Amino acid sequence: MTPSIAKVIFALLALGWYVIRFPYERRSRRTPVVRNARGPREIALLLVSLTGLGILPFVYIATGFPRFAGYSFRPAQAWLGLVVAIAALVMFRLTHKALGRNWSVSLEVRESHTLISDGVYRYLRHPMYTAFWLWAIAQALLLPNWFAGCAGLVGFGILFFGRVAKEEALMLESFGEDYRKYMSRTCRVIPWIY
Ligand code: SAH
Repeated sequence: MTPSIAKVIFALLALGWYVIRFPYERRSRRTPVVRNARGPREIALLLVSLTGLGILPFVYIATGFPRFAGYSFRPAQAWLGLVVAIAALVMFRLTHKALGRNWSVSLEVRESHTLISDGVYRYLRHPMYTAFWLWAIAQALLLPNWFAGCAGLVGFGILFFGRVAKEEALMLESFGEDYRKYMSRTCRVIPWIY
C-alpha cells in the first residue's frame, strides 16, 4: 500500500457509498413527508458534516492541502482503514435495505412510515450512524493528514450529537410507546455500550 493507492481506495469507496444511497434518495423524493423537523439548524449540521466527510478529504486528495498537517504514511494503518471502510459500506447497505421507504437525509416522517426494529435495527437504533462513524474512522486511517483525516470525525460528530436526541424525540412523537419500548432494549450506535 502506498499513499496514492490509499487515496484511490478512499475515492472509490466513497463512490460506492453514493451508489448505495442514490436509489433511496430518488425514491424518497417520491414519498410525501407528513412530519418534518428540518430547520435551519438541521441544514447547518448537514453542511458541516458534508464538509468534513466530503469536501475537505477531496480537496486534500486533489491538492495535498493542507501540507503542514501531513504525517508519514504507515501501510498497516491504511490496510486497517480499508477493512474499516468495507465494514462501513456493508453496514451502510444493510441499513438502507432495512429502512427502505422510511429513509430520509434529514429528520422527516413519511407517509405510511413504519417503525423498523428488525435486521440491523434489532440491536441498534442508529446503525446508519454507526456506518458513518466507521466511515469517518476509515477516513482518518486512510488519509495521512491530521486535518483532512480527522475532518470526518469532527464534522460527523457535530451532526450526530446535534441531531440524535431530536431524531429520537421525533420518533417518540410519531410512534409513542412502541419507540419507548424499542429504546429500552437497544443501544444507539455501539452494541451493549452506547
Ligand atoms: N438514525 C437512523 C436512521 C437514519 S436516516 C440510523 O442511524 O440508522 C434518518 C431518518 O430515519 C429519520 O428521518 C427518521 O424518520 C428515520 N428513522 C430513524 N429511526 C427509524 C426507525 N427505527 N424506523 C423507521 N424510521 C426511522
